[in-house]
Amino acid sequence: MSAFSFRRDLISKPIFRWAQQVLPTLSDTEREAIEAGDVWWDADLFSGNPDWGKLLAVPPATLSPEEQAFLDGPVDALCRMLDEWRITWDLRDLPGEVWDFLKRNKFFAMIIPKTYGGLGFSAYAHSEVIRKLSTRSLTAAVTAMVPNSLGPGELLLHFGTKAQQDYWLPRLAEGREIPCFGLTSPEAGSDAASMTDSGVVCRGIWQGREVLGIRLNWHKRYITLCPIATVIGLAFKLYDPDHLLGERNEIGITLALVPTSLPGVDVGRRHLPALMVFQNGPTTGRDVFIPLDRVIGGVAQVGKGWKMLMSALAAGRGISLPSLSAAGTAFAAHTTGAYARIREQFHVPIGRFEAIQERLGRMAATAYLVDAARRLTCAGIDHGHKPAVVTAIMKEQATERLRMVANDAMDVHAGKAVQEGPLNYLGGFYRSVPIGITVEGANIVTRSLIQFGQGAIRSHPYLLKEMTALEDPDRARGLAEFDRAFWGHLGHSVANAFRAWGRAWTGGVFAPAPATGRTRSFYKQLGRYASAFALAVDMALLTLGGALKRQEMLSARFGDILSELYLLSAVLKRWDEEGRQRADLPLVAWCMEDAFATIETRFDAIFANFPNRPVAWVLRFLVLPLGLNQRGPSDRLTRACAEILLNPSATRERLTVDIFHGIGDEGLARLERAFALTVAAQPLRERLHKAHARDIDKARQEGLITEAEAQQLRAAADAVAAAVAVDDFAPEAIAPRQAAAEPVPLTWNPFKRNARAAASAGVRERWGGR
Ligand SMILES: Cc1cc2nc3c(=O)[nH]c(=O)nc-3n(C[C@H](O)[C@H](O)[C@H](O)COP(=O)(O)OP(=O)(O)OC[C@H]3O[C@@H](n4cnc5c(N)ncnc54)[C@H](O)[C@@H]3O)c2cc1C
Repeated sequence: MSAFSFRRDLISKPIFRWAQQVLPTLSDTEREAIEAGDVWWDADLFSGNPDWGKLLAVPPATLSPEEQAFLDGPVDALCRMLDEWRITWDLRDLPGEVWDFLKRNKFFAMIIPKTYGGLGFSAYAHSEVIRKLSTRSLTAAVTAMVPNSLGPGELLLHFGTKAQQDYWLPRLAEGREIPCFGLTSPEAGSDAASMTDSGVVCRGIWQGREVLGIRLNWHKRYITLCPIATVIGLAFKLYDPDHLLGERNEIGITLALVPTSLPGVDVGRRHLPALMVFQNGPTTGRDVFIPLDRVIGGVAQVGKGWKMLMSALAAGRGISLPSLSAAGTAFAAHTTGAYARIREQFHVPIGRFEAIQERLGRMAATAYLVDAARRLTCAGIDHGHKPAVVTAIMKEQATERLRMVANDAMDVHAGKAVQEGPLNYLGGFYRSVPIGITVEGANIVTRSLIQFGQGAIRSHPYLLKEMTALEDPDRARGLAEFDRAFWGHLGHSVANAFRAWGRAWTGGVFAPAPATGRTRSFYKQLGRYASAFALAVDMALLTLGGALKRQEMLSARFGDILSELYLLSAVLKRWDEEGRQRADLPLVAWCMEDAFATIETRFDAIFANFPNRPVAWVLRFLVLPLGLNQRGPSDRLTRACAEILLNPSATRERLTVDIFHGIGDEGLARLERAFALTVAAQPLRERLHKAHARDIDKARQEGLITEAEAQQLRAAADAVAAAVAVDDFAPEAIAPRQAAAEPVPLTWNPFKRNARAAASAGVRERWGGR
């Protein structure tokens, strides 16, 4: 240790000892999750003083001409081939020609570089493809999404050996191999690291020769694409009881590529997730032998599977589900606005009723916000970030907001959306919502543990440094590191306390803002909340320490504030990127005012439930001196947002750009036609209304309108009737499907899993239990 230091040895040292008791210790899996990916704009938000210039300088996500051509060409052509009703209810799968088209056009190879025969698309292009496909067929969108998300392709790219990349990536790119990724098992869902799927290092026969390899036993479920996969990216715990690889008995979570053609692999059975028919099912493997070179990354990567997974998830979670959710919110907003315009009750378009406008306004603003956040996140990923906390925010927030918007869309459409059939363009989205909520980290655990739990450690400017120093086995070095981080932390906390106080008591007027006009106050207000957030986080860490991890309700509220700060940053960035369109301002303002109210409500609830009461009182005094000031968007603002969905405009176009609008006589195409004709006929209808005439023929006879105008009105009325129509079925058209849906006897008995359990128990016995 260096010479005596008053600060380090007399002040920092006792604090160092105390902090070792109170600060959360990290399990191996937590540490690996925290070390995966990197920090980005989240770090600015945690600093309490975000640098808006940095946000605005992030180059916007854009498409290359080649990517745009792919969207206009193959994606559009694919959309035209898809009929979701037939896929879901008649075929229960994508038709053969669609599978061929997907493979031929390399939809499964968007993330695979061109050098390996893939498309080598940016995150944004990948997201745009998923977004457009989602508005046509969720089955196709999920099918295309999965090989480009967490799975063999992504893992090979980042961790595969050269030989593995050379062999597998071209095969995946050409669609010769269909991959799936098997992590989840019956006993290990959210706590995936607790899996009991096992691999034992042993010698075995591979292609006629005895080689060193792994004998695998697993039971996975819920695995997307598994029923038709040719290769499983399998996660399992690796054991080496005979010490063939080294000293360790228990090597840890490992990832390997397992061809489904190997003896002992069982795939093919299907789940029906929320009655969606994308391929999803269980798999088991019994005493499946693979050589060691099937481990992704080879022997060097054994036991590093969790870290690899977390690292791949850090970026992927920000693309797939947010894209699908952005598509869903835009699609729901677009269709619901059109429907509210054409559907009349009490002789008035239902979109004129305030209660409907309340929903429409929320839908419009949410669609703006989710897409803004998707674009910003893609831009970050395309500029080399793997922002684990931001992508956890995106996954949870985008899918939750899709749930809210899907509910609103269903409520406004009412019976029209409830009655299933080819004419129903919303039912699939509604049914699929819980899937997005569940996968890639179920939302409750993501909100209450991951966003803030990881964010507080990762994105905080000092905490991880302090924790690492506390765990340093070299105590002298640890103390020196801690001393530096701790005093930096103290300065940060004091600065934030003054900043939070000053900004709260002055309404944020002195907070920095890079803009003039209406959005200037939004930046200032956000700056105010960011400093309050940073202060409250430090106080929570100081007073609760490791216990904060168990206070999930508190943690979730902090997560909500962090999420709102990120989403609102994205909204301001979008407004700026789109040329500060005045007509879009109501949407921006609605997002801000709604989120400000949420943020204050969460602060209020945090302070009300903060275990250390005196600290809670001080925080409330500093941060919310006048109590809850924000009451959410005014009715006037909500009405303005609703109007955007009810009338054609450039803002409506921007909001719902790149939606597939339906073809022929489909439900969506009928709606579009009815909307266009209703809008065009509006002046005529107003004329009739003023003359108290409801009947078109009578109005024609009385000379109120010309014959051409009468025809225009009739065409609009017919189009509306066609758009409002729902399907009905002959009893025999439904009955045979019910018969076919009767459960087929199980060929695989889940209780036989005991056999696998016994096998792994055998493993345990051999090396002395675990
Ligand atoms: C359609 C579909 C497709 C899927 N595709 C794949 C795939 O391709 N590959 C794959 O490996 N997996 C896949 N999954 C699995 C998915 O990732 C898991 O369903 C998910 O991880 C949740 O696990 P679980 O369903 O067992 O829920 P559980 O883990 O049982 O969780 C139940 C509830 O408890 C909550 N919870 C759990 N722990 C905590 C905690 N500490 N604090 C607070 N709340 C908590 C969860 O949020 C959830 O709400 C898929 C699932 C579905 C439904």
